[in-house]
Amino acid sequence: MPLTIVQAGEPVLRSPARALRPNEIRSREIRELIQQMKETMYAAPGVGLAAPQIGQGIQLAVIEDRQEYIKDWTPEQLAERERKAEPFHVIINPRITLLGEERIEAFEGCLSLTNLMALTPRARRVRVECVDEKGQPRVIEASGWYARILQHEVDHLKGTMYVDHMYPRTLMTVDNFTRHWKDKPISEIKAALQQATG
Ligand code: ZN
Repeated sequence: MPLTIVQAGEPVLRSPARALRPNEIRSREIRELIQQMKETMYAAPGVGLAAPQIGQGIQLAVIEDRQEYIKDWTPEQLAERERKAEPFHVIINPRITLLGEERIEAFEGCLSLTNLMALTPRARRVRVECVDEKGQPRVIEASGWYARILQHEVDHLKGTMYVDHMYPRTLMTVDNFTRHWKDKPISEIKAALQQATG
């Protein structure tokens, strides 16, 4: 059974999550929670899910970008977003470093802000130091879409959401994105929406 994903306004989404202690990480409770979060992420579907989104204020997130999510994309679309499949993995107690000054703008959504998305700038490259579900230290260097996912999920563990980074005037429903903007270049969307019309 998928867990309930809490929506914006739940205090847990705006509170910094606590780090997991080494002895907790390998506990049966956390192992079961990871399995439930994986099922919940698949059912949503989504490419990441952070523990605060299922009501748990702990520094744990699951990530997987599945081949089936991008199977209908053209090579050009994949290249434009720098997106490729990423296998399932767990990040616990992460520290993130944004690498370089380069930023990429793309539409981003969140399972805790159902049916909405907005143009959101993110660092192109990041490094994440964390431990995995076995308590083993891991260093992840990522770029493109995967770097975006990592920034989004680590943000959740700090009580931050994409709406804190987005260009506010680009916030829209997924339906309207599909209807009006999906096939337009980002520069054109920005120009059309960013104009302040008084
Ligand atoms: Zn989210």
